[in-house]
Amino acid sequence: AVTAELEALQYADVAALLPLPAAESDKYRRGVVGVAAGSARYPGAAVLAVAGALRGGAGAVRYSGHSADAVIARYPETLVSGGRPSEAGRVQAWVVGPGLGNGTEAQEALHDVLASDVPVLMDADALHLADRDAVRGRGAPTLLTPHAGEAASLLGSDRAEIERERLAAVRELASRYGATVLLKGSTTLIAAPSGGPVRVNATGTPWLATAGAGDVLSGLAGSLLAAGLDALDAGSAGAYLHGLAARHAADGAPIGAHDVADAIPVAWRDVR
Ligand code: AMP
Ligand code: MG
Repeated sequence: AVTAELEALQYADVAALLPLPAAESDKYRRGVVGVAAGSARYPGAAVLAVAGALRGGAGAVRYSGHSADAVIARYPETLVSGGRPSEAGRVQAWVVGPGLGNGTEAQEALHDVLASDVPVLMDADALHLADRDAVRGRGAPTLLTPHAGEAASLLGSDRAEIERERLAAVRELASRYGATVLLKGSTTLIAAPSGGPVRVNATGTPWLATAGAGDVLSGLAGSLLAAGLDALDAGSAGAYLHGLAARHAADGAPIGAHDVADAIPVAWRDVR
């Protein structure tokens, strides 16, 4: 702990959180994570969210949306369904938003996911589409993962103001939305809706400032939610592993977001 207000994430804290399979585990007991992402315009965001989800500790990834062909081409182990999330099979947590767009299908997907009784991670387009009362009224935990620009639009503020007052912004969002909030940036802050110290992750690297990096994080943290971590722990462990994976992948050189996803197992081995 740094101060009562901030809590720096340590290696040992994260190690204790990782969901390791028990000897008698089967894939369903390890958790199934649902990914509702992608659109005709942005199929790659769906692929990257699935890439993160496959390395997050859940036993299976179920994909619902427009980009099933692209997802299957890269990750044949994904369970795909062409229909709406409410028609997909049972999942233990949903990830919604990366590349989703803002049309009718996106709104329907978000509606289905928010109406579910399982934890939900909302990122990217889902943050723009979301109605605050629909998030506040959920019976299950919700984890929001905005970057500064998305946080600014949720708070009706501007990006520079968020960057100046990151701690206040993440707390205010958590309180307004009744949700856990993970504010991305060069460091990542994670705040619970009930208050308490805000967690800080600093494992990242500026090489992470690359398109699609956030999509990988959403899948990774969503998978940890499906494996049974609470929203604060899933966000914390997800950010920690994501940053470490980027360091391994980059090692001082430029990387693409898919390289970060590929390096998640290396980060995981470091920690466990
Ligand atoms: P997004 O903006 O949604 O693509 O997410 C970008 C990801 O990269 C988040 O996990 C950020 O925390 C991380 N990131 C962006 N810029 C930096 C930076 N300068 N240093 C460390 N991590 C960063
Ligand atoms: Mg993003």
